Amino acid sequence: MRRILLLATGGTIASKESGQGLSPAITSEEILSYVPAVGELCRMEAVQLMNLDSTNVGPSHWLKIAAAIREHYEDYDGFVITHGTDTMAYTAAALSYLIQDSPKPIVITGSQKSICLDDTDARRNLFQSVLYAADRQSHDVSLVFDGRVILGTRARKERSKSFNAFSSVDYPEIAVIRDRKLIRYLAPRAYSYGAEPVFYDSLEDKVLLLTLIPGMGAEALGLLKDSYQAVILQSFGVGGLPGGGSGPLAQAMSEWLEAGKTIVMMTQVPYEGSDMSVYQVGQQVKEKFPLIEAYNMTLEAAAAKLMWVLGQTREPEQVRELFYRPVQCDLIR
Ligand code: ASP
Repeated sequence: MRRILLLATGGTIASKESGQGLSPAITSEEILSYVPAVGELCRMEAVQLMNLDSTNVGPSHWLKIAAAIREHYEDYDGFVITHGTDTMAYTAAALSYLIQDSPKPIVITGSQKSICLDDTDARRNLFQSVLYAADRQSHDVSLVFDGRVILGTRARKERSKSFNAFSSVDYPEIAVIRDRKLIRYLAPRAYSYGAEPVFYDSLEDKVLLLTLIPGMGAEALGLLKDSYQAVILQSFGVGGLPGGGSGPLAQAMSEWLEAGKTIVMMTQVPYEGSDMSVYQVGQQVKEKFPLIEAYNMTLEAAAAKLMWVLGQTREPEQVRELFYRPVQCDLIR
């Protein structure tokens, strides 16, 4: 029988009423006890890595999760991480960069309601995650939620209350699970016997996101330069900068770049990504500045990838080269 390790990190799935709102309190062993049917799929053990609302989960926790998987990698056939839904897509993306080319599946899941409630989605999500993790053809990092299997670099939380909270953005779901049946839409990646994953253990967390609104000006971008190593600028449509290559925003950008910082441009439109070559307000900027364009990456993947890239190097050419190198179908140009 396959051996799967549950790594519990908190989230609604593990929450109870604290008197001041929901807060994670249920342990990894208790979580498992709510879904005895996983015993038919695999031999399962559990560890409690942390017990946090995922609002409080960030880069240091991503490194901790990756380190725990590395420590136990040889002892198990797959891993299931229970996690809060609010930042789950960021953690899924970060793990996709921290653990690359993994022949063993690393599945992240959670729920919109606590596992101790009668009308919860937690038991089904956990069962389906284990079903996917125990399948011999499953690999790499993915998110399983409400019957969907989504690549770790392509997930986004799109609904704050409904059970179908997560979508796969600009990329197909790789599989669905109907009752106990796994239906693969995309052929799984082929790994040769004995293939080993590549683990990374550093991230740069000084990454700023600035979403533009009309009329916002360039003051904030100018002021924040010294506090961050990189900025993601979320602009409009297929991509452009108010004022084009010669306005105040362009001036602030050139100051960031002169200081050796990284600028990633992306769109705030949820689907289909950017192409800054289309309009003059974009093309001018791209020709003038050595910035990076995120094209159709999700914000979650772009942020996590930037942190991973800058954890490896700050040399501008290497940053560009690493950022543009696709990982798990994160970037399709
Ligand atoms: N606030 C919770 C969390 O992200 C929400 C959830 O898990 O659904 O930890």
